[in-house]
Amino acid sequence: MTTYEAFYRQSVDQPDAFWAEQAKLIDWQTPPTRMCDNDHPPFTRWFGGGRTNLCHNAVDRHLKDRGQQPALIHVSTETGAEETYTFAQLHEQVQLAAAMLRGLGVGKGDRVLIYMPMIPQAVFAMLACARIGAIHSVVFGGFASVSLASRIEDAAPRLIVSADAGSRGGKVVAYKPLLDEAIYLSAHKPEAVLMVDRRMAPLDPAPGRDWDWDALALRHQGEVVPCEWLDSNDISYTMYTSGTTGQPKGVQRDVGGYAVALAASMKHIMQGEAGGTYFCTSDIGWVVGHSYIVYGPLIAGMATILYEGLPIRPDAGVWWSLVEKFKVSAMFSAPTAVRVLKKHDQALMKKYDLSSLKALYLAGEPLDAPTARWISDALGVPIIDNYWQTETGWPILTIANGVERKASKFGSPGVPMYGWKVKIVHETTGQELTEPNQKGVVMIDLPTPPGFMQTIWRDDARFVKTYWESIPGKTAYSTFDWGIRDADGYYYILGRTDDVINVAGHRLGTREIEESISSHAGVAEVAVVGVADTLKGQVAMAFVVPRHAADVADDAGQFKLEGEIMKAVDSQLGAVARPSRVRFVTALPKTRSGKLLRRAIQAVCEGRDPGDLTTIEDPTALQQIKELLAG
Ligand code: AMP
Repeated sequence: MTTYEAFYRQSVDQPDAFWAEQAKLIDWQTPPTRMCDNDHPPFTRWFGGGRTNLCHNAVDRHLKDRGQQPALIHVSTETGAEETYTFAQLHEQVQLAAAMLRGLGVGKGDRVLIYMPMIPQAVFAMLACARIGAIHSVVFGGFASVSLASRIEDAAPRLIVSADAGSRGGKVVAYKPLLDEAIYLSAHKPEAVLMVDRRMAPLDPAPGRDWDWDALALRHQGEVVPCEWLDSNDISYTMYTSGTTGQPKGVQRDVGGYAVALAASMKHIMQGEAGGTYFCTSDIGWVVGHSYIVYGPLIAGMATILYEGLPIRPDAGVWWSLVEKFKVSAMFSAPTAVRVLKKHDQALMKKYDLSSLKALYLAGEPLDAPTARWISDALGVPIIDNYWQTETGWPILTIANGVERKASKFGSPGVPMYGWKVKIVHETTGQELTEPNQKGVVMIDLPTPPGFMQTIWRDDARFVKTYWESIPGKTAYSTFDWGIRDADGYYYILGRTDDVINVAGHRLGTREIEESISSHAGVAEVAVVGVADTLKGQVAMAFVVPRHAADVADDAGQFKLEGEIMKAVDSQLGAVARPSRVRFVTALPKTRSGKLLRRAIQAVCEGRDPGDLTTIEDPTALQQIKELLAG
């Protein structure tokens, strides 16, 4: 058996040979002639000359051996729906969706924006895009009109696919008014909107623009839509993620590299076996959902569970009842969800037969040791923390038990995965910190492995500047995370170096939230920071300088402005971005050059030392925040 060390070494010393072997895990219509192309750094390209298709690899190629095996299992504890599609049925539905897309004028390279709850049609739409070479851009259903509008404007989709409503905890969220408002706000208008009617909220169709999924499906019944063979480096999708500026970045991914990366990760990391069932509790609106709800498990020939609902409704045993019922072999979730479950009786999990489960993978935010221990005790299977980002597409740091079994260390996601040249770097000099336990920025050297982002959609310059030039004079990819590596080579992630916060595993930019709050007429200035929270990892806290102090409270002394600001964020960005509190101050701490000292505010909120304040313009501003919090 190969040791992981040898496996890793080959991946970085002989990337061509290593990835040529991994490329055999998928079907190619034309096999690639060139593995790694690093001629134009930092734009690494993979599998040149190769032609393939993600939908073919996820669906069609399984028809021969497992056509009657479950492929997509949809469970909604919100509506009570439960339905299973075999690979053959999925193939049928995806062709139908592809026929509808084509009928609406969508072709190769066109963008299709998908704004949907966790329903089968969302997966059909994604796979249909992949099938015909259209570029999908899925926007998380929890985002509201302003977030959605900026994504519509940037992606410039020909078509938007959506539904009347989603539901969370029994509360129906109507999507159509948010979508209509977003289209109104966006300078780009889609030619068509395809709506799934779940009969949960009014649809109010716009004549000539809006189409009903079921009605249109009747027209295209039985149409055959073959897979379009795409160049490995064609674009499969874009997906927006937050950064330091208010403008979200469209992370762009290829076809062949992504397919190979996922096939390899399903084998080496997830230990997926064709015929098994995979249950990833994320949402299709996040990269985890793209990689490990939709493409990864299906490429591996596994059934995948698409779950709409909370982990604790009707009770905290619901996920484990699904593990028993569908004989789930691998599960993927986020630490936040486990912290929610931890508040409930472990007996609710233990009453189900969980013997099919081989491992639980957790990602998206730091996994604290008590949470890891609690779930490890409850399940008795390996708990595998994995660290990665929207940009990377699949784990950078974890344990590859499919290659060689290795012990996890609580608090550490693990060691660098094959293909990733991870290093810890001094944040200003750019010097690599080679001694153990030195804190620095987690960075990655070229070439980047398959599955990594190609660029930022329509903005190569921003891609280079944002990610590759964070340290003057050095070209290396910055994850914008602090980290250390211990003497055994295990890494520990210590939080972001930028203004990105992580609320319940959801990545949000504080600038976006600040922009939304600033749109309220009563707000003169605002600073948003992420503050440690025992349940959600972090929550957003806003400090606002009101235009008129008298506006803050109403006659009854209630926090009128706080409520209004929260409502504004809810309707513009979505409830995920709503700050936990809005506090009012007369000034914000800034440097003499006018830069907001967010990190100092955050330190004060978390009861830490704010550090070097020699550049602060007015120390009383920070003192005011301290007193406010103490009060
Ligand atoms: P996203 O792009 O939404 O997946 O968020 C990526 C960010 O989430 C990373 O840059 C980290 O800050 C954080 N993150 C993801 N996974 C982990 C993990 N296993 N441990 C610690 N932080 C993580």
